[in-house]
Amino acid sequence: MRQTTFAIGLVFLAFAVSASTLAQTSADTAGKKAPAVQTSESQAALTPAAALEKLKQGNARFVEKNMRSRDWLAKVSATSAGQYPFAVILACMDSRAPIEIIFDQGIGDMFGIRIAGNIVNEDVLGSMEYATKVVGSKLIVVLGHTSCGAVKGSIDDAKLGNLTELLAKIRPAVTASGPGSAKDEAYVNKVAQANVAQAMKDIREKSPTIKAQLNAGTVGLVGAIYDVSTGKVTFLPD
Ligand SMILES: [Zn+2]
Repeated sequence: MRQTTFAIGLVFLAFAVSASTLAQTSADTAGKKAPAVQTSESQAALTPAAALEKLKQGNARFVEKNMRSRDWLAKVSATSAGQYPFAVILACMDSRAPIEIIFDQGIGDMFGIRIAGNIVNEDVLGSMEYATKVVGSKLIVVLGHTSCGAVKGSIDDAKLGNLTELLAKIRPAVTASGPGSAKDEAYVNKVAQANVAQAMKDIREKSPTIKAQLNAGTVGLVGAIYDVSTGKVTFLPD
């Protein structure tokens, strides 16, 4: 008798697991406008403005605790033959700003370039040129964040091995923001915003490839700040 009850319990458990797997898969693929993964067609159909809207809606889902359930391994399989990301995000390496999570995006949806202080150098520009010109991404986002350690280090003019040169790349934003202290969070966030503007300027001025795509309107460029205390991304005006 006990054995029978146990067996029935096992069957019920197996059914429950498979039903939950099924629910996750169907939630990921059915009843949504976007496909399960980005395809050549879905990428081509997006304008820069539509790509921006996808990121805004994704961050809204994140903040509202309404993130999509995803069958991650199904996405691994579906993207194994190629990738068609709709955006490329330049963000800080900060562990509190994981870009796919805060924009509620899946595998193959966007390129991520992450480096302390979201600074621009030739390698970053080359990566963006690949993302847009070669792979067809429609939007470049420069994402700074509040309470950025790299920004604070640059304000303090910190020196440490190879970090010295990296922090020097943020100095123009410190200078542009006037005098202030790394202990003043409002000032730190002001510099972070100036640093995003500086990165956007560098992208326009130092990459003829990207500039041509921006001028043609085939690619967009936008700045944003992620608030590590609220989870909200605020896109900056042009
Ligand atoms: Zn940072």
